[in-house]
Amino acid sequence: PLEIIDAHKTFRTPEGGTLTALDGVSLKLAAAEFVTLLGPSGCGKTTLLRTISGFETLDAGDIVIDGAAVTQLPAHRRPVNTVFQRYALFGHMSVARNVGYALEIAGRDKREIRTRVGEMLELVGLAGLGKRMVSQLSGGQQQRVALARALAGKPKLLLLDEPLSALDKNLRQKMQQELKALQRELGIGFIFVTHDQEEALTMSDRIAVLAHGRIQQIGAPSALYQTPVNLFTADFLGESN
Ligand code: ATP
Repeated sequence: PLEIIDAHKTFRTPEGGTLTALDGVSLKLAAAEFVTLLGPSGCGKTTLLRTISGFETLDAGDIVIDGAAVTQLPAHRRPVNTVFQRYALFGHMSVARNVGYALEIAGRDKREIRTRVGEMLELVGLAGLGKRMVSQLSGGQQQRVALARALAGKPKLLLLDEPLSALDKNLRQKMQQELKALQRELGIGFIFVTHDQEEALTMSDRIAVLAHGRIQQIGAPSALYQTPVNLFTADFLGESN
């Protein structure tokens, strides 16, 4: 559903210099594919997600989702949504209201929203918790709410920016499996950002290793692990966390 064609993005620094965040990134994502962006801090992962979702425009290149350039679609018609590391939920609102919020803003029918919210809470294992305040939930539960909210509008592509990094190790491993199963069940594309190689190796159909705003290598986890084509990738995959 997604094609990124030679994406370039540079930022100006307050000192008047420039920072290259994306330096010619190209990537095609098959429908229902799980691709992980792996790379050190500052390599351009978040910038790439922000341009895919249309929050940020490219200096050059194109991002095409289902045949349409993402920037040509109004925000509410883009078939893409994002789950952030820090959930970005409304703590003072109920779980159900958080999950249905975008549908509410879009003026969807109340009954339709209620049904959809129920389905989403069921999907992420929070059935029955719709009336709780978000601030009363654990970190893992809050991330599930964020996931339910992101999926409520039936996106074809979900972007996940380090969604598990705020969770402790056990919960994180559990959520890795759940996320993977959910992605399979829904059959939609996931672009997952992480610093954690192990997480990338266990969850992905393909891993794109980024450094300095470029994809240094891309392939199935097994291929990347066995035959890293360049030094950077070998070093990076060999590094312990
Ligand atoms: P991290 O893993 O730390 O989140 P990242 O791989 O997501 O890093 P980006 O956040 O995409 O990296 O940043 C890529 C480069 O672009 C960095 O040098 C960063 O400082 C710079 N950058 C990103 N956003 C902006 C901005 N709004 N203004 C100026 N520079 C920016």
